[in-house]
Amino acid sequence: MSDLTGQRCELAPGIVRVTAPNPSPMTGPGTNSYVLGSGPCVIVDPGVDDADHLAALRAAAPGVIAAIVITHRHPDHVGGAARLAESTGAPIRAFGHHNHGAYDAPLIVDEPLNDGDAIALGGMTLDVLHTPGHAADHLCLYAREARWLFAGDTVMADVTVVILPPDGSMSAYLDSLARLRAMDIDTIAPAHGHLLDDPAAVLAHIVGHRLDREDQVRRALARGPTTARAIAAVLYPDIDPRLAGMAATQVEAHLIRLAEHGEAVADDHGWRRTA
Ligand SMILES: [Zn+2]
Repeated sequence: MSDLTGQRCELAPGIVRVTAPNPSPMTGPGTNSYVLGSGPCVIVDPGVDDADHLAALRAAAPGVIAAIVITHRHPDHVGGAARLAESTGAPIRAFGHHNHGAYDAPLIVDEPLNDGDAIALGGMTLDVLHTPGHAADHLCLYAREARWLFAGDTVMADVTVVILPPDGSMSAYLDSLARLRAMDIDTIAPAHGHLLDDPAAVLAHIVGHRLDREDQVRRALARGPTTARAIAAVLYPDIDPRLAGMAATQVEAHLIRLAEHGEAVADDHGWRRTA
């Protein structure tokens, strides 16, 4: 169990993190829920449906809870949303234009959010950014005055973000990262793991890592027709067996991007390089 799991921490004025009790290889120490605002506030990603965690979120709210904001509909982010909404009367807000994705949990959205929206909390303004890649409906929140980015699963501390097609898209992810790199960000607060205080270096590292992987996949393909699973076995030789399927899907995300660029094509047997 990590030092974050189940812990509440006041990170800055009007910014409280409460980490949910759901540590795992996929979620790191657990999902970080954030309570943002010094009076009226929003709760970002209520995490899992755990009575103690939801009580800790209610207790951390300094004033009326104006909204429960969801970065994306994966179960470790939205699990507690319905119960928190029920017990507080706060509306659930998430990306509006969305078809239910393969990895999504069910969610009833009271008020949709879209790119360019802003949430004003008195002293804190949250800009809403649509940042698809990890999931098609993914949102980041940018606290304008503090220059903090609440990154959801677009950036994680110490863990590689999984891109699982069809909801996930490597090209969309790289576009979203490029957009974030152009912003003036002091601190990244991820949904999994600790704060990242060198956003430029972190974002550059992630992009570099993805492009390296892409190159490895390209080289694997150059050796002849293959499958995502076979490539994954080479690229991730020591992977936890529980994550092997995930790794193959991650390779698939790179292959789809190569196909978008006309470098690869899928057939009944797997993947091959275009002639
Ligand atoms: Zn996720």
